[in-house]
Amino acid sequence: MEETTVIGGGLAGCEAAFTLANAGCGVTLCEMKPRKLTPAHKSPDLFAELVCSNSLKAARVNTASGLLKAEMKLLGSLVVEAAESCSVAAGGALAVDRDKFAGYITNSIKSHKNIKIVSEETVTFPAKNAIIATGPLTSDRFAAAIAKKCGGALSFYDAAAPIVTKESVDFSTAFFASRYGKGGDDYINCPFTAEEYDRFYNELITAESVIQHGFDVYEGCMPVEVLAKRGKDSVRYGCMKPVGLTDPRTGKRPYAAVQLRAENADGSLYNIVGFQTNLRFGEQERVFRMIPGLQNAAFTRYGVMHRNTFLDSPKVLNHDFSLRDADNIFFAGQITGTEGYCESAVGGIIAAKFLLSRLVGKEQPPLPATTMCGSLARFISDESNLRFQPIGAAMGLLPPLDTNIRDKAARYEKLAARSLSDLTNWINI
Ligand SMILES: Cc1cc2nc3c(=O)[nH]c(=O)nc-3n(C[C@H](O)[C@H](O)[C@H](O)COP(=O)(O)OP(=O)(O)OC[C@H]3O[C@@H](n4cnc5c(N)ncnc54)[C@H](O)[C@@H]3O)c2cc1C
Repeated sequence: MEETTVIGGGLAGCEAAFTLANAGCGVTLCEMKPRKLTPAHKSPDLFAELVCSNSLKAARVNTASGLLKAEMKLLGSLVVEAAESCSVAAGGALAVDRDKFAGYITNSIKSHKNIKIVSEETVTFPAKNAIIATGPLTSDRFAAAIAKKCGGALSFYDAAAPIVTKESVDFSTAFFASRYGKGGDDYINCPFTAEEYDRFYNELITAESVIQHGFDVYEGCMPVEVLAKRGKDSVRYGCMKPVGLTDPRTGKRPYAAVQLRAENADGSLYNIVGFQTNLRFGEQERVFRMIPGLQNAAFTRYGVMHRNTFLDSPKVLNHDFSLRDADNIFFAGQITGTEGYCESAVGGIIAAKFLLSRLVGKEQPPLPATTMCGSLARFISDESNLRFQPIGAAMGLLPPLDTNIRDKAARYEKLAARSLSDLTNWINI
């Protein structure tokens, strides 16, 4: 088998290198530590460093992150193996002793006979047979090389609005329509009376934000709360303008309106248009649930504003994380727009499995859409997504079951069972 290169020794890069090496493939793992550290990485010598929380989120299989971990186990994940052997008590979550966890992975990588380590910053784009997993804080020079190769389809910060599930929207208040009836009923509209707007506005401008350090935001991506502070009507003439809308309950134009736009092809997830925000997550729940129709909103992603290097993946990546029109070049991890520790790590396994199948000339079908890893892969490579924003695991990404089960816990159990069975079949192909 031809030799391969993995760039970046984080969660995705370690999974990729381990998967390739275990299949008998020679791997060169390029990691810029200890010569250079990103602003978030602190350890000079450990791979797979957890840069913030020590939790890999929920463990139960009937949750999105629990299901993802169960799928990763089936796929032979080193990250889940390390996490389970270095876990600390954390209720229903899988949390780890971060040094032991990173140490476990570092030892497995360093002692592997098929892995060679090169401690250098990569600055040029690889020619072939490579997986790029340099993460959200990819070094500047390499990010410039990636941006050039990908025709500029690379963002350097994330200014994202919250995403909620369609099933949690109250349609006795909210309604489908497009402004002036143009373009079909593409938006969910949440209409405000003047009193509702006043109450919402006052909470929005006084809610607590996350403190940002040294981070400039373009005017077009200003947090909604910052825009609101410019004046009482600033957002009513901006992202909350009611023009072209008629509230079917009153037959009149509402005083203000919030619009939600479909986030995925199935229409199960919706983002709140223009509501990129820097509010604390708890504050987002409290304030945005004051939007009429969103009082029971289930958030699958909170709004964020932070540094984040990520590809416009729907424009440049295939479902298997390979770069279109390139010679066996794959991306993996947070740089592809799959957000979170496990979401990043699983990308490394998937990219490695598809690279391996290409190297041995085997036809490998796409991951089943019914799996969490498959639905993430489908989401990031969906060419119809013209306003791509990163996403983490969410039950709303999975296609619905054939039968309608009202009880949420029972429904999620069934979705998880279907996913694990379909993934087992895929692995055995
Ligand atoms: C500040 C911050 C906090 C986060 N907190 C959380 C959290 O609490 N929970 C959560 O689930 N997710 C969190 N994330 C999101 C995400 O899960 C992590 O960033 C995760 O580590 C991403 O994994 P990765 O493998 O894609 O990248 P990383 O783990 O960042 O690994 C990338 C590796 O590539 C190396 N590298 C970069 N450039 C080069 C180069 N040119 N040449 C060679 N090596 C290079 C880096 O040194 C690093 O080791 C956070 C992200 C950030 C930025």
